[in-house]
Amino acid sequence: MHPWVTYDSTLRALERGETTCEQVTEGFLRTIADGTRLNAFLSVFNEKALDRARAIDRKRADGRAGRLAGMVIAVKDVLSMRNEKVTCASRILEEYVAPYDATVIERLLAEDAILIGKTNLDEFAMGSSTENSAFGPVLNPVDESRVPGGSSGGSCVAVAAGMAHTALGTDTGGSIRQPASFCGIVGLKPTYGRVSRYGLVALSSSFDQIGPFAANVTDAARVLQVIAGHDERDSTSAAVAVPDYSAALTGSCTGLKIGLPNEAFGEGLDAGVRAAVEAAIGRLRDRGAVIMPVSLPHVPYHISTYYILMTAEASSNLARYDGIRFGHRSAEARDLHDVYTASRSEGFGAEVKRRIMLGTYVLSAGYYDAYYRKAQKVRRLIQKDFFDAFASVDLIVMPTAPTTAFKIGEKAADPLTMYLSDIYTVSANLAGVPAISVPCGTADGMPVGVQFIGKQFDEATVLSAAFALEHGAS
Ligand code: GLN
Repeated sequence: MHPWVTYDSTLRALERGETTCEQVTEGFLRTIADGTRLNAFLSVFNEKALDRARAIDRKRADGRAGRLAGMVIAVKDVLSMRNEKVTCASRILEEYVAPYDATVIERLLAEDAILIGKTNLDEFAMGSSTENSAFGPVLNPVDESRVPGGSSGGSCVAVAAGMAHTALGTDTGGSIRQPASFCGIVGLKPTYGRVSRYGLVALSSSFDQIGPFAANVTDAARVLQVIAGHDERDSTSAAVAVPDYSAALTGSCTGLKIGLPNEAFGEGLDAGVRAAVEAAIGRLRDRGAVIMPVSLPHVPYHISTYYILMTAEASSNLARYDGIRFGHRSAEARDLHDVYTASRSEGFGAEVKRRIMLGTYVLSAGYYDAYYRKAQKVRRLIQKDFFDAFASVDLIVMPTAPTTAFKIGEKAADPLTMYLSDIYTVSANLAGVPAISVPCGTADGMPVGVQFIGKQFDEATVLSAAFALEHGAS
């Protein structure tokens, strides 16, 4: 039995008058309090969430409630909420309080969602295990000796352990999909530009996207419906119409053309994960999907291209933490130069420092052409691989991650091995296309996720295939 609570079950209970938003919120707050050892939350809005739940109960009684009335949502602590801390799980922002709401927060509040707290993550969203948090690692609720994946580990665990209906994460190179796969829930990364990044603390501006974690595909679609759409405060948000995602959840995949890239089923893929993913593909075929081979010839370059471009952008974005404008200022500093170096040395953790060094190196005058410019060109080729593949298929399918959740500490000492766990997820961020991870079974008792990658702005087809798998399952 999973501890999840789906929004559908809550809605039914609310409609029958068996519960109230206040009681639902109390239930989640209890589960959070009972599960503090998992370390999923950095702050919990106890009283504030209950006040809001009571207000929404009154709105429901008057028939004025919004589309997400009573949905309890946890938020990754990289998203700004007015008068709340946004720490990014970093000492450098430990005391920083956001002066405004991110667009996604505004949109959720406008539809009467109940925000229950801010969740733990790898510092500045850098990592694949949520071991890099300055506030301690997050545990996987399926097996507490294992990592939940990262960087949005806290948001993922909030849903997987029944501490919220849904959660917001961010995905720069897999940070929604990979933890979803490791904990056995649904995680969706929308198309780059689909969801406004206004109010999101940037890791890597040309890759970051905000998206939902949910216990099922329907709830993920509901959250996307509300947060998607153009926002004039984010110049990279796209003015593309948002379709009705619920219409895509038919359960049918007859005639759907799904591409299978051979390159993604080679060396390094765990046998148990492969078996679970292949079985899921078989089930879709049985239900009428047409499985076809496609080629993504630049797969061997995805990880290196991602880590060059992401660290370059991260080093530039993190330059703003100078001990003056934001966050921690060293008490030891004696002059201006000291303020910069001591504040940053004290405030940033090891992985953040590693990426700042890598990023400034690839952007430095002597190496810019060899690394940064070259990687930009390869990114273009990777995008082209996807566009070419999508000329003949509607979707691409591959594993979400090469393994199931690994042990806490297993990869912490070896950053390169850790980076390789992103092999199947970074491609969607490099190409800017939408992708979902949906549970498809287990390997050695741990959850396995299968990933569907779609055409730009075609989240509907991605959701539709995930829903068909979920409903025609095993
Ligand atoms: N694991 C990847 C990284 O370490 C992805 C991070 C993310 O998506 N935020 O960069």
